[in-house]
Amino acid sequence: MSRDLPIIKVDQTFELAQAVVDGVDISGHWNRMFSDRSVTEYPTEAMDWVTSLDGGESLRDCYQCGKCVPVCPVNHVGDYGPRKLNAKVLRGNNLLDDPDLWLCTTCGNCYRVCPKEVNPLRIMPAIREQAVLEGKVPDELSEAFRNLQKSGNPHGHSPRKRADWIAGADVPVPLISELGRPVDVLWYVSDYTSYHARGQDAARAMARILTALEVDFAILGNEERSDADSARLAGETGLFEMLAEKNIESFRKYEFKRLVVMDPHAYNAFRNFYPKLGWEGEVLHYTQFLAPLIDRIEFRSRVELDVTYHDPCYLGRNNDEFDAPRRLLEAIPGVRLTEMPHNKANGYCCGGGGGGMWLDGFVADHVSERLSERRVREAVATVGADGTGVLSVACPYEPSRFEDAVKSTGNDGRIVVRDIVELIDQAMQPPAH
Ligand code: SF4
Ligand code: SF4
Repeated sequence: MSRDLPIIKVDQTFELAQAVVDGVDISGHWNRMFSDRSVTEYPTEAMDWVTSLDGGESLRDCYQCGKCVPVCPVNHVGDYGPRKLNAKVLRGNNLLDDPDLWLCTTCGNCYRVCPKEVNPLRIMPAIREQAVLEGKVPDELSEAFRNLQKSGNPHGHSPRKRADWIAGADVPVPLISELGRPVDVLWYVSDYTSYHARGQDAARAMARILTALEVDFAILGNEERSDADSARLAGETGLFEMLAEKNIESFRKYEFKRLVVMDPHAYNAFRNFYPKLGWEGEVLHYTQFLAPLIDRIEFRSRVELDVTYHDPCYLGRNNDEFDAPRRLLEAIPGVRLTEMPHNKANGYCCGGGGGGMWLDGFVADHVSERLSERRVREAVATVGADGTGVLSVACPYEPSRFEDAVKSTGNDGRIVVRDIVELIDQAMQPPAH
């Protein structure tokens, strides 16, 4: 087309008033696609910066279709989703000073449905890492990072106390350093299972189950450090690598056939990230380890409970294990299992992932309700509120997290939260009279 013909500017688009191409008249708006477009009102620096980060690239690919919006758990309690983040960055906000940077739990539900594979599991840690480098981290999260740095766990407890929970287990729990021989299973107990009172209940139940099954197992005790997967997702890559180095050192020191972990985040870290750091081995979540063995367990009572199961994002959606926990629950005498509307790949996030475990106060200022509270309401609606209902879990973050939500939603005494191993252990005991 000739450039000498008159040009009309329409918004950001230029069109030729008269144009004929190969005998076809494409005057006016018909030839907009042929003209150079000059877009001057949108700064590109913020998007260029995000996409220059390792992991940030896919944010640019969003084409605002909106599929991610209804599945984002944070959008259920606010206004959120990758579409909004993309639009903010396109308008020149690099997110470093924006509270939205910390609201994503990296649950992955948007990535599951996004036609353009926009991936917050990589985008958020990439931007957050820069926020960490610039010291722009919410206070609660900074404290968890400091504790991890100093003590190897987010609670700030002494590493020497990591195996203190053994005292109440009623069965021997061997430390691998004291056994002096190879074992079949190295049991990675994890932070909340080691230190938090409700986590310790699950640890003791697991110890009794392993003993009943005559599994040849041992733990690392005070040689165990946090898997720090949530710190990585919250932007502290350096801390993740430092703690991984210590765990890998311990894994290499001892001989074992497989690693069995309580925490889906540990499972994610050991399975998907430790190989890049030089350690590779068989890793099983405890539900995967126990599911093939469940027929060997001698159950001595029926529990008679209406149970629903919460899929942890980093066992289910992000690592594809949906069946093993359900196989365990269905094998427990007296369990009546009912699914919540959000289940399996579309499971609703508890709000604890991606650093959310240490951002509760911060997040609460930006949402109408905690994700854990919303999930508890869904569980109550599914199994009823007559006191026989159970919200069952398979992640050490969740007993305390959901029990707080049971209280804050006014459901105390109407539903209980139990790790799957606690339910198995309960049915292994003789009936209470
Ligand atoms: S689903 Fe993907 S492409 Fe569609 S709006 Fe969300 S991030 Fe953008
Ligand atoms: S990863 Fe989860 S929380 Fe984050 S934007 Fe996607 S759906 Fe929302």
